[in-house]
Amino acid sequence: MTSILREKAGEEVPLIAGMEGPASLASRLLGTYNFLTWIIRRPETVRECLKVTGSICSEYAGILSDAGADAVCIVDGIAGPDMLDPRQFDSLIKPKYERFCRSGKGIKLIHVCGNSTPILEILSKCGFQGISIEEKVTDLRAAKKLVGRKTSLIGNLSSSGIILNGTCEEIKEEAQKCLRDGIDILAPGCGIAPKTPTRNIKALVEARDEYYHLNYASGGHGPFRFAQED
Ligand SMILES: [Zn+2]
Repeated sequence: MTSILREKAGEEVPLIAGMEGPASLASRLLGTYNFLTWIIRRPETVRECLKVTGSICSEYAGILSDAGADAVCIVDGIAGPDMLDPRQFDSLIKPKYERFCRSGKGIKLIHVCGNSTPILEILSKCGFQGISIEEKVTDLRAAKKLVGRKTSLIGNLSSSGIILNGTCEEIKEEAQKCLRDGIDILAPGCGIAPKTPTRNIKALVEARDEYYHLNYASGGHGPFRFAQED
Protein backbone atom coordinates (compact mmCIF):
# COMPACT_ATOMS: atom_id res chain seq x y z
CA MET A 1 0.00 0.00 0.00
CA THR A 2 2.81 2.43 0.89
CA SER A 3 4.52 1.92 -2.46
CA ILE A 4 1.19 2.47 -4.32
CA LEU A 5 0.60 5.70 -2.38
CA ARG A 6 4.18 6.80 -3.00
CA GLU A 7 3.55 6.51 -6.72
CA LYS A 8 0.21 8.35 -6.54
CA ALA A 9 1.40 11.13 -4.22
CA GLY A 10 4.42 12.03 -6.33
CA GLU A 11 7.62 13.46 -4.92
CA GLU A 12 6.25 16.79 -3.65
CA VAL A 13 3.92 15.43 -0.98
CA PRO A 14 5.52 13.89 2.12
CA LEU A 15 4.22 10.38 2.73
CA ILE A 16 3.75 9.58 6.40
CA ALA A 17 2.98 5.97 7.28
CA GLY A 18 1.22 5.28 10.56
CA MET A 19 1.71 2.22 12.72
CA GLU A 20 1.09 1.09 16.28
CA GLY A 21 3.89 1.66 18.75
CA PRO A 22 5.57 -0.93 21.02
CA ALA A 23 3.25 -0.30 24.00
CA SER A 24 0.01 -0.53 22.00
CA LEU A 25 1.22 -3.70 20.31
CA ALA A 26 2.14 -5.21 23.68
CA SER A 27 -1.26 -4.28 25.13
CA ARG A 28 -2.97 -6.05 22.24
CA LEU A 29 -0.89 -9.18 22.71
CA LEU A 30 -1.28 -9.29 26.50
CA GLY A 31 -4.74 -7.67 26.71
CA THR A 32 -5.19 -4.08 27.89
CA TYR A 33 -6.16 -5.06 31.45
CA ASN A 34 -3.15 -7.36 31.83
CA PHE A 35 -0.80 -4.82 30.28
CA LEU A 36 -1.83 -2.06 32.70
CA THR A 37 -1.93 -4.22 35.83
CA TRP A 38 1.23 -6.21 35.02
CA ILE A 39 3.18 -2.98 34.62
CA ILE A 40 2.75 -2.69 38.40
CA ARG A 41 2.60 -6.38 39.43
CA ARG A 42 4.76 -8.10 36.86
CA PRO A 43 6.97 -5.44 35.27
CA GLU A 44 9.51 -8.03 34.10
CA THR A 45 6.88 -9.79 31.96
CA VAL A 46 5.90 -6.49 30.38
CA ARG A 47 9.56 -5.62 29.87
CA GLU A 48 10.13 -8.93 28.01
CA CYS A 49 7.08 -8.35 25.84
CA LEU A 50 8.18 -4.78 25.02
CA LYS A 51 11.56 -6.12 23.92
CA VAL A 52 9.79 -8.16 21.26
CA THR A 53 7.28 -5.50 20.20
CA GLY A 54 10.01 -2.82 20.13
CA SER A 55 12.08 -4.88 17.68
CA ILE A 56 9.04 -5.62 15.53
CA CYS A 57 8.17 -1.90 15.34
CA SER A 58 11.72 -0.98 14.24
CA GLU A 59 11.72 -3.74 11.64
CA TYR A 60 8.31 -2.73 10.29
CA ALA A 61 9.31 0.95 10.16
CA GLY A 62 12.26 -0.10 8.00
CA ILE A 63 9.91 -1.95 5.64
CA LEU A 64 7.67 1.15 5.36
CA SER A 65 10.70 3.37 4.64
CA ASP A 66 11.93 0.97 1.97
CA ALA A 67 8.46 1.07 0.39
CA GLY A 68 8.70 4.86 0.04
CA ALA A 69 7.48 6.44 3.28
CA ASP A 70 9.32 9.69 4.11
CA ALA A 71 8.33 9.43 7.73
CA VAL A 72 6.89 6.78 10.02
CA CYS A 73 4.53 7.84 12.79
CA ILE A 74 3.85 5.56 15.72
CA VAL A 75 0.59 5.84 17.60
CA ASP A 76 0.91 4.57 21.14
CA GLY A 77 -2.23 5.68 22.93
CA ILE A 78 -1.78 3.40 25.91
CA ALA A 79 1.62 4.94 26.72
CA GLY A 80 0.15 8.45 27.08
CA PRO A 81 -0.13 10.09 30.50
CA ASP A 82 -3.92 9.59 30.48
CA MET A 83 -3.27 5.83 30.77
CA LEU A 84 0.23 5.37 32.14
CA ASP A 85 2.09 7.00 35.01
CA PRO A 86 4.90 9.11 33.46
CA ARG A 87 7.39 7.42 35.89
CA GLN A 88 6.57 4.00 34.43
CA PHE A 89 6.73 5.50 30.99
CA ASP A 90 10.25 6.66 31.79
CA SER A 91 11.55 3.26 32.90
CA LEU A 92 9.67 0.94 30.52
CA ILE A 93 8.69 2.77 27.35
CA LYS A 94 11.34 5.47 26.90
CA PRO A 95 14.23 3.03 26.16
CA LYS A 96 12.09 1.40 23.44
CA TYR A 97 11.39 4.76 21.82
CA GLU A 98 15.07 5.70 21.91
CA ARG A 99 15.97 2.48 20.13
CA PHE A 100 13.14 2.96 17.63
CA CYS A 101 14.32 6.48 16.78
CA ARG A 102 17.88 5.29 16.23
CA SER A 103 16.85 2.39 14.00
CA GLY A 104 16.86 2.50 10.21
CA LYS A 105 16.51 5.54 8.04
CA GLY A 106 13.74 8.09 7.61
CA ILE A 107 11.98 10.53 9.91
CA LYS A 108 10.41 9.15 13.08
CA LEU A 109 7.26 10.75 14.48
CA ILE A 110 4.89 9.95 17.31
CA HIS A 111 1.26 10.78 17.94
CA VAL A 112 -0.01 10.82 21.51
CA CYS A 113 -3.72 11.11 22.21
CA GLY A 114 -5.06 13.21 25.07
CA ASN A 115 -3.07 15.79 26.98
CA SER A 116 0.52 14.70 26.34
CA THR A 117 2.07 17.75 28.06
CA PRO A 118 3.64 15.74 30.96
CA ILE A 119 5.71 13.58 28.55
CA LEU A 120 6.48 16.06 25.74
CA GLU A 121 9.98 16.82 26.98
CA ILE A 122 10.87 13.11 27.41
CA LEU A 123 9.50 12.31 23.95
CA SER A 124 11.62 15.00 22.31
CA LYS A 125 14.70 13.62 24.09
CA CYS A 126 13.95 10.12 22.76
CA GLY A 127 14.85 11.42 19.32
CA PHE A 128 11.51 11.86 17.56
CA GLN A 129 11.75 14.54 14.92
CA GLY A 130 8.11 15.45 15.33
CA ILE A 131 5.44 14.99 17.99
CA SER A 132 1.79 15.06 16.97
CA ILE A 133 -0.45 16.42 19.71
CA GLU A 134 -4.19 16.67 20.26
CA GLU A 135 -6.18 19.81 21.04
CA LYS A 136 -6.15 18.71 24.68
CA VAL A 137 -2.67 20.22 24.81
CA THR A 138 -3.98 23.72 25.35
CA ASP A 139 -0.84 25.73 26.15
CA LEU A 140 1.04 25.52 22.86
CA ARG A 141 3.70 28.05 23.81
CA ALA A 142 4.61 25.95 26.86
CA ALA A 143 4.48 22.76 24.73
CA LYS A 144 6.88 24.22 22.18
CA LYS A 145 9.27 25.20 24.96
CA LEU A 146 9.16 21.62 26.29
CA VAL A 147 10.00 19.96 22.96
CA GLY A 148 12.66 22.50 22.00
CA ARG A 149 13.79 23.73 18.62
CA LYS A 150 14.97 20.40 17.23
CA THR A 151 11.58 18.69 17.50
CA SER A 152 8.61 19.78 15.41
CA LEU A 153 5.27 20.20 17.10
CA ILE A 154 2.50 18.80 14.88
CA GLY A 155 -1.23 19.44 15.28
CA ASN A 156 -3.56 20.33 16.81
CA LEU A 157 -6.99 21.32 15.53
CA SER A 158 -9.72 19.11 16.95
CA SER A 159 -10.58 16.37 14.42
CA SER A 160 -13.92 15.59 16.01
CA GLY A 161 -14.71 19.25 16.73
CA ILE A 162 -13.76 22.16 14.50
CA ILE A 163 -12.42 20.15 11.52
CA LEU A 164 -15.58 18.04 11.39
CA ASN A 165 -18.16 20.67 12.27
CA GLY A 166 -16.56 24.09 11.88
CA THR A 167 -16.87 26.53 8.97
CA CYS A 168 -13.85 27.20 6.72
CA GLU A 169 -13.43 30.62 8.38
CA GLU A 170 -13.45 29.13 11.87
CA ILE A 171 -10.89 26.52 10.82
CA LYS A 172 -8.61 29.14 9.30
CA GLU A 173 -8.84 31.32 12.40
CA GLU A 174 -8.00 28.41 14.71
CA ALA A 175 -5.20 27.29 12.38
CA GLN A 176 -3.61 30.74 12.45
CA LYS A 177 -3.74 30.68 16.23
CA CYS A 178 -2.04 27.25 16.35
CA LEU A 179 0.76 28.46 14.05
CA ARG A 180 1.21 31.70 16.00
CA ASP A 181 1.42 29.84 19.32
CA GLY A 182 4.11 27.31 18.37
CA ILE A 183 2.80 24.61 16.01
CA ASP A 184 5.50 23.84 13.41
CA ILE A 185 3.43 21.57 11.18
CA LEU A 186 -0.28 22.29 10.91
CA ALA A 187 -2.37 19.11 11.04
CA PRO A 188 -5.51 17.60 12.52
CA GLY A 189 -5.03 16.75 16.21
CA CYS A 190 -5.99 13.09 15.69
CA GLY A 191 -7.47 10.82 13.01
CA ILE A 192 -9.75 12.64 10.55
CA ALA A 193 -13.43 11.76 11.11
CA PRO A 194 -14.92 9.91 8.08
CA LYS A 195 -17.68 12.50 7.46
CA THR A 196 -15.33 15.51 7.45
CA PRO A 197 -16.11 17.75 4.44
CA THR A 198 -13.21 17.96 1.96
CA ARG A 199 -13.53 21.77 1.97
CA ASN A 200 -12.58 21.79 5.65
CA ILE A 201 -9.33 19.93 4.94
CA LYS A 202 -8.64 22.33 2.07
CA ALA A 203 -9.23 25.27 4.46
CA LEU A 204 -6.46 23.87 6.65
CA VAL A 205 -4.03 23.83 3.71
CA GLU A 206 -5.09 27.35 2.68
CA ALA A 207 -4.57 28.60 6.24
CA ARG A 208 -1.04 27.21 6.21
CA ASP A 209 -0.29 28.87 2.86
CA GLU A 210 -1.71 32.20 4.00
CA TYR A 211 0.33 32.09 7.18
CA TYR A 212 3.46 31.19 5.24
CA HIS A 213 3.05 34.02 2.74
CA LEU A 214 2.37 36.50 5.50
CA ASN A 215 5.33 35.52 7.67
CA TYR A 216 7.96 33.77 5.58
CA ALA A 217 7.50 34.66 1.90
CA SER A 218 10.35 37.17 2.06
CA GLY A 219 12.89 34.57 3.15
CA GLY A 220 13.58 31.87 5.72
CA HIS A 221 11.81 28.56 5.86
CA GLY A 222 8.13 28.04 6.28
CA PRO A 223 6.28 26.72 9.29
CA PHE A 224 5.66 23.31 7.74
CA ARG A 225 9.19 21.97 7.44
CA PHE A 226 10.64 19.58 9.97
CA ALA A 227 12.89 21.24 12.49
CA GLN A 228 16.52 21.06 11.42
CA GLU A 229 19.45 19.74 13.40
CA ASP A 230 21.82 22.45 14.52
ZN1 LIG B 1 -5.11 11.02 18.98
